Amino acid sequence: MQRDVSLRLPPQKAFDERSIRKALGIGPESRLAIIRRSIDARRSDIWIDLMCRIDPDAPVAESICMKDADPSKGQVIIVGSGPAGLFAAMTLLEMGIKPVILERGKDVHSRRVDIARISTQDIVDSNSNYSFGEGGAGTYSDGKLYTRSKKRGENSKVLGTFVRFGAAEDILCDAHPHIGTDKLPKIIENMRNSIIEHGGEVLFQTCVTNLIIDNGRCCGVIARNLVDGSETSYHGNVVLAIGNAARDTFRMLCSSGVAMESKSLAMGVRLEHPQHLIDQIQYHNPNGRGKFLPAATYSFVTQVDVDGRRAGVYSFCMCPGGFVVPAASDREQVVVNGMSPSNRGSKWANSGMVVEIPADSLDSDDPLAMMEYQISLERRTFLSANGTQKAPAQRMTDFMAGRPSSDIAPTSYSPGVTCSNIWDVLPPFACKALHDGFEVFSRQARGFMTSEATLIGTETRTSGPVRIVRDPEKLESVSTPGLYPCGEGAGYAGGIVSAAVDGMRCARMAAGNLLV
Ligand SMILES: Cc1cc2nc3c(=O)[nH]c(=O)nc-3n(C[C@H](O)[C@H](O)[C@H](O)COP(=O)(O)OP(=O)(O)OC[C@H]3O[C@@H](n4cnc5c(N)ncnc54)[C@H](O)[C@@H]3O)c2cc1C
Repeated sequence: MQRDVSLRLPPQKAFDERSIRKALGIGPESRLAIIRRSIDARRSDIWIDLMCRIDPDAPVAESICMKDADPSKGQVIIVGSGPAGLFAAMTLLEMGIKPVILERGKDVHSRRVDIARISTQDIVDSNSNYSFGEGGAGTYSDGKLYTRSKKRGENSKVLGTFVRFGAAEDILCDAHPHIGTDKLPKIIENMRNSIIEHGGEVLFQTCVTNLIIDNGRCCGVIARNLVDGSETSYHGNVVLAIGNAARDTFRMLCSSGVAMESKSLAMGVRLEHPQHLIDQIQYHNPNGRGKFLPAATYSFVTQVDVDGRRAGVYSFCMCPGGFVVPAASDREQVVVNGMSPSNRGSKWANSGMVVEIPADSLDSDDPLAMMEYQISLERRTFLSANGTQKAPAQRMTDFMAGRPSSDIAPTSYSPGVTCSNIWDVLPPFACKALHDGFEVFSRQARGFMTSEATLIGTETRTSGPVRIVRDPEKLESVSTPGLYPCGEGAGYAGGIVSAAVDGMRCARMAAGNLLV
């Protein structure tokens, strides 16, 4: 009979199944699943809390089960193959409906070559980069799978589906699950192959350039083949899962009369420390994390007063044992982001350190105002990098003193950096807020403020700059029925899991009239 038992073990035993069985008093004949694992690092004696399920009598996590597409049920067009688009496609196949995925970027393997060229040749391909291509922005990412969303059933279905396509089962129990950038491409490829095997269609290098609107209703899209330039129409309800970087597509939607509004945006820098320093601080041990503990993480949030305004400052998308990456999606931009491999084994720890810029601070009715502001910051960063991908960088202590750095500690950012003064790159409001935020964070974590830490600019893609307004029940565009704005680009998700969950929900709605 199934039973759940909680255990508290030291790190050297908590990751070893034999030790866990011994502590539970069960032999090899009993089946064992760890359903929750978290680290208690509040004091120097670190403990791991486990919830163990003995003799589980049901699958630990549900996953999406696809059926073959039934041609009589019609099709749904999906724009974008990020987590939102892929999970929408799999959900449609769960209902036997054919998805047609149109993706401007390349498949995961070809995309890897273009991503490498950003670092090695300073070339950004505007359709194949860290944002665009198979798997979307989620493919070459850390693959952290935590979400603030409380939709437990749907979140665990997303995790279960990742496991089904090749992720380690650990993600089902870790309090802070992650997959790692080395594992994600294969998982995404497995998902795509399965979608095709079940009768779905996936077209790469196919960029949607227009909506087909008939009597005010969206009944398809026009897409350009980026290899031969030909244009093709695709008919059906449209799930629009374009992510947060497709500026040309946002402009097209705006001029097609799709209702949109400007959204608040968080922006700032990536802050990189040596990982051993973060391990020492978080595990309260001068010797670092030792043999059994994972690379330590941190999370900070505070409110500061700047020029009479309150501003939220927080760490975002922390990547222990990771790398800072060049995440520009077009020429004349410098944008940084972070990722880490599954073993989180690099020498560095990085995190976005960002300041919230409210939508109303721009004092404009233009729904694309925040996007244009974001573009201007990315271009300014590019200019301060002398027109290259060598991002502006500054030692943390120099930033606090307001002086440019004359040299920089080694960083993981592979295109290289330009010694700079971030105060000349970001707006004064953001710099003051970051400055005051860092003072708060270094009081909370002694040793966090150090000349060994480097600010690398700039982080502008924490979320989408617009919201495509949709009906909260039907999830359909309020201006353009037949169009289902979905995921991060539409303003309804922030991260892989929430984008995937939104994809599943939008697919069910977009399928609605095909099921009757
Ligand atoms: C380097 C990096 C690291 C990250 N790390 C994490 C992490 O660890 N955990 C986490 O939860 N989140 C992370 N994120 C964020 C996460 O990747 C996104 O939140 C998520 O991918 C959003 O999913 P989406 O499907 O809404 O959009 P996206 O993943 O952005 O996918 C959109 C897709 O649409 C395509 N597209 C756009 N316009 C068109 C068009 N006109 N025609 C056809 N196709 C189009 C794009 O090419 C893209 O593939 C990271 C992001 C980056 C860049």
